[in-house]
Amino acid sequence: MFTGRPTPAPGEPLFTKEDTAGALALAEEERDTCPSCGYLKVWCRDPANQFGAFDVDEEFCWATYRLADYRKSKDYGESQAASVQLAVRFREGREPDIEAGLDLVSQDGQPDGESDDGK
Ligand SMILES: [Zn+2]
Repeated sequence: MFTGRPTPAPGEPLFTKEDTAGALALAEEERDTCPSCGYLKVWCRDPANQFGAFDVDEEFCWATYRLADYRKSKDYGESQAASVQLAVRFREGREPDIEAGLDLVSQDGQPDGESDDGK
């Protein structure tokens, strides 16, 4: 859905050509991307890729496991089960280091906070 700029100044368009081009590009990418596997549909639905083209990487998400376990423990009716919104968070005292595992790189390709020109 196109909602436009929140507060265009008088005389400014609600959508610029760049806004429209970006929104259309996103819509095309979403249209062309498989919602199940995340690859382009032209690849994942190509019969030439039926055998041997894809491999599986398996990882385990403990947060999802906790959510599924919690949901299973509740005696939700069918409508409730389809409607209840759950979210997972770290328990107090178990929060991770917020920057752990993140290799933050700024747009100039340098580690965040550094730059090529010394600024
Ligand atoms: Zn797919």
